[in-house]
Amino acid sequence: MKNIYNALLLKQLYQLKNLGYKYTSEKPYSKEDRELLELPNSLQGLKKQAQNCHLCSLSKGRNHVVFGEGNSQADIMFIGDVPLEIEDNAGAIFLGRGGEMLTAMIEKVLNLSREQVYITNLLKCHPLLTKEVHESEFHTCKAYLFKEIELVKPKVIVTFGDRAYQYLTNDLTELKNIRGTVIKKDGYSIIPTYHPNFLLKNPSFKKEVFFDLKRVISR
Ligand code: SF4
Repeated sequence: MKNIYNALLLKQLYQLKNLGYKYTSEKPYSKEDRELLELPNSLQGLKKQAQNCHLCSLSKGRNHVVFGEGNSQADIMFIGDVPLEIEDNAGAIFLGRGGEMLTAMIEKVLNLSREQVYITNLLKCHPLLTKEVHESEFHTCKAYLFKEIELVKPKVIVTFGDRAYQYLTNDLTELKNIRGTVIKKDGYSIIPTYHPNFLLKNPSFKKEVFFDLKRVISR
């Protein structure tokens, strides 16, 4: 899903489903509309578009759009799931203790700096009002994530937590059964592992994450 057309189409299908529709033959957008709905071909342009995005209801409660950060040509990309409140307030990604944990993982295990990798989330807006995120919102926002991947062209993607892995791959395998394995997709390798925020509450899982990150180095 590399353009907004697909995201809008999905959004409309979810709306129709909620209204009780089981089938529609309506084509909401013409071929010309689709071309206008292509996403920008630069990270800067994409960020600007996300900052003005109102495609899903999360735009109503956010303070800032939390877009990806880091090296635009990174070999390694990290994908989390949802921005936290602290990140929504600051408009920056992976802050607080979870952010410190991620920085330590990058510096101490991979021997890199945060500036050398690219870090992003599945969702770009914090669910301030609802706290819960509906699956349609993940599907809608995925268009930005896929475009970020297309533009950065990482060799390895490390996904944090169940949702980042499942929405990226459409594979619903639970994280505990898939973590640490290498999944090949569209020219890059995906390595799923636990989220730094999960490690804060479950420090005994750090050794698994250490093992998973060692697989990144071997790629
Ligand atoms: S979460 Fe994504 S799709 Fe929804 S408003 Fe924010 S940027 Fe747009």
